[in-house]
Amino acid sequence: MSDKAVLVTGGAGYIGSHTVIELLNANQNVVIIDNLTNSSYEAVRRIEKLTEKKVTFYKVDILDKKAMLEVFKRHDIWAVIHFAGLKAVGESTRIPLDYYHNNITGTILLLEAMKESNVHNIVFSSSATVYGDPAIIPIPETLPTGATNPYGRTKQFIEHIIRDLCTAENNWNAALLRYFNPAGAHPSGILGENPLGVPNNLMPYLSQVAIGKRECLSVFGEDYDTPDGTCVRDYINVIDLAKGHLAALTKMREPNVGCAEYNLGTGHGNTVLEMIHAFSKAVGRDLKYKIVARRPGDVRNLTANPEKANKELNWKCEKTLEETCESLWNWQSKNPNGLEDCPGDAPAESIICYL
Ligand code: NAD
Ligand code: UDP
Repeated sequence: MSDKAVLVTGGAGYIGSHTVIELLNANQNVVIIDNLTNSSYEAVRRIEKLTEKKVTFYKVDILDKKAMLEVFKRHDIWAVIHFAGLKAVGESTRIPLDYYHNNITGTILLLEAMKESNVHNIVFSSSATVYGDPAIIPIPETLPTGATNPYGRTKQFIEHIIRDLCTAENNWNAALLRYFNPAGAHPSGILGENPLGVPNNLMPYLSQVAIGKRECLSVFGEDYDTPDGTCVRDYINVIDLAKGHLAALTKMREPNVGCAEYNLGTGHGNTVLEMIHAFSKAVGRDLKYKIVARRPGDVRNLTANPEKANKELNWKCEKTLEETCESLWNWQSKNPNGLEDCPGDAPAESIICYL
């Protein structure tokens, strides 16, 4: 099996690039496709630098089925890890059709290309956002889903599509990985999250306050029913998250796996203020923040019950919150502008496009 390759869609992005490193370190063959709409080719160069391995990369859009079929033809692929997608909640409420088209149509075309190429194993990037405002904390996978925004609904619908496919055709295997809040960076400081424009998420925003790119963090609400009034999230180190994908692939080598959902989180929640204090400690000074109104659509608490993944995937989070904050600051201080200043163009020979 190890001669065969894993196709990673969205492999130049934040979670994808860290997962590719873990796959290469585990001696897996990897092929990346990414259209680079929210990433830079520099991430691929840095993966090569970190692993001292050559990476096979194609600039391919998942809306381009013919291009994907070409990649499946060129490589002996046994499984796909599917990260490619648009992910900004706020943006998804403004341009829902773009989100539904890119994420859902793109996934259907990917599944069709897989089927036509006789590849039936998929690991899908879902999200804790599918739970909406959950009635039980920590959240078990058995809770009903009910996403509250178009981005979350793309994840929920794609889960249904993959589940229906596995039910209809029993040669398919799928792991629907519901990520909680990914944070941190590669400990080398060479690779990390590279938000374009103003970050939406807490930790990238906070790290831009620390580097002086933003003046002050706005904390969205302090009147929630939580220990200090600010929202609780389960922040999972990106390396632990990346390793969760390897664990899901290992599971897929067992016979008759079928389709299963897994929460990937630590099982421990932190408030926004706790995260500010933990990150300030890593930076070595206080960071400016102010309390503002609640952000529409935010929910009080999203904390995983990760027992199913712990047991069935033989995986659990190992990194501490301190390590996560230190790795983020290491990355941000070594790369104040992320990968913005690096040449982002993919080599011409990597481009396959029939659109
Ligand atoms: P990211 O934006 O860094 O990575 C996604 C990658 O997909 C980017 O490199 C982008 O260029 C690529 N892409 C987008 N549309 C594409 C298309 N049509 N064809 C080819 N490539 C395309 O995001 P990330 O944080 O690494 O997230 C990866 C996945 O995990 C996404 O599906 C996201 O929704 C999901 N997820 C992320 C989080 C989070 O907080 N980061 C939480 C839960 C789930
Ligand atoms: N948050 C905040 N200020 C910001 C960004 C986020 O107070 O600038 C809060 C947000 O209200 C939520 C938590 O931080 O409670 C995590 O938000 P993020 O957008 O990172 O992830 P989400 O859980 O919303 O997907």
